[in-house]
Amino acid sequence: MTDKTIDNMIEQTPLLKNIKKGEEVFWKNTMALPTEEATAQTEYSKADILDAEARLQRFAAFIRVAYPETEETAGIIESPLSEITKMKEYLDEAMDQELDGRLWLKRDDLLPISGTIKARGAIYEVLKHAETLALEHGLLKNTDEDYAVFASDEFRTFFAKHNITVGTTGNLGISVGTMGRKLGFEVTVHMSVEAKRWKKEYLRNIGVEVIEHDTDFSQAVENGRAQSEADPNSYFVDDEHSVELFLGYTAGGLRMKVQLDIAGIQVDEDHPLFVYLPCGIGGSPGGITFGLKQAFGDHVHCFFAEPTKMPSMMVGLLSQKFDEVSVFDLGLGGLTVADGLAVPRTSGLVAKLMRTFFSGGYTVADDVFKALLSRLYGIEGIFLEPAAVAGIVGPYRLMQSEEGQAYLREKGLTDKMDQATHIAWATGGSMVPAKDREAFLFEAKSYTL
Ligand SMILES: *Cc1c(COP(=O)(O)O)cnc(C)c1O
Repeated sequence: MTDKTIDNMIEQTPLLKNIKKGEEVFWKNTMALPTEEATAQTEYSKADILDAEARLQRFAAFIRVAYPETEETAGIIESPLSEITKMKEYLDEAMDQELDGRLWLKRDDLLPISGTIKARGAIYEVLKHAETLALEHGLLKNTDEDYAVFASDEFRTFFAKHNITVGTTGNLGISVGTMGRKLGFEVTVHMSVEAKRWKKEYLRNIGVEVIEHDTDFSQAVENGRAQSEADPNSYFVDDEHSVELFLGYTAGGLRMKVQLDIAGIQVDEDHPLFVYLPCGIGGSPGGITFGLKQAFGDHVHCFFAEPTKMPSMMVGLLSQKFDEVSVFDLGLGGLTVADGLAVPRTSGLVAKLMRTFFSGGYTVADDVFKALLSRLYGIEGIFLEPAAVAGIVGPYRLMQSEEGQAYLREKGLTDKMDQATHIAWATGGSMVPAKDREAFLFEAKSYTL
């Protein structure tokens, strides 16, 4: 992008000035539409989510056999929801704001098999690819068969002739690698410089070919795509353009309806639901939001959270240049402690699709990531990886920022907040090895809000 284009862009959107300076900001999305209208404008609908859910149900028979730890949920990959009252007390005091409503954590750090939110989208895409191949090659006659056969030697031998490739900052590779290898695929993962060493070691240990690039995420993806496309037996999981990843995540949003019912949490006109989602390239917050919107309509309000150094979704939406603009164009970037969100350029597919669904977004400074990580562990005994804590300050940003307050006024919610439910989506953490966990906690020890 030329300097002139960037100057024009900033002039038209004053918030970009603050973003460029690396300030923490809260943004209210003026392009958002009522759920029905927004949905009518997209190619996707509740039927697509139900199709994805049905596929996950079919594969439950396989997952149950392949991963005995999923016995309790009968092969369904799902996570608990827990209220964090002590953390809320701490935040109320630290943020000087008594938060109305209740604060919950959606524990995707505890998802079975790969312990991050990626287990939703990435595993879904690998399963769908495996199903497609099995049907095409006659290993499956139809989708009514017992999918436990996917654990058989016959299937594994067949999949061993096929490759799956992905480019990633780390966690996507872990989910694709884990499920791909389990099915018998050959898996290649292209990693960027941000990727943590333990993630590379973990993947090599399960027999994944890891190719390291001394570049950022977008370049790692580019290299992966080029190599995969040159091989007719290779399938590329495309973080930037994948509809399958997106649909895998949507199922997680729709399922919240049942989980909230069971928890006795009411969601309606007088009981608003606010969900705060850490955002990298956008697939997971986008997909979950789409699913939540189909479940709760206009009663759910979804905000994405990004590092101040890598606000790629916010820059893409604010400028309406989507994936044509990168945070580097604004002079941002550099390493962030939230490595799982270190994506300089948003997904064009997701940003364009979600433009009318997200209620807004906000950015989080590295010091705040560290403080949240450290305090959550100290107070609730919950360890999350840095990226995963970004949602926790969301409710306070909503209540305390001018744009957040304006949002609540416009929606007529200001005096309903004592009946609100706030859910911070915790996107990962349980896979971090003890040594790395200690290092994180040590580094973050002295940080408070
Ligand atoms: C990938 C990831 C995210 C964000 O998901 P995107 O689809 O990249 O937006 C959030 N948290 C963790 C821990 C992640 O690994």
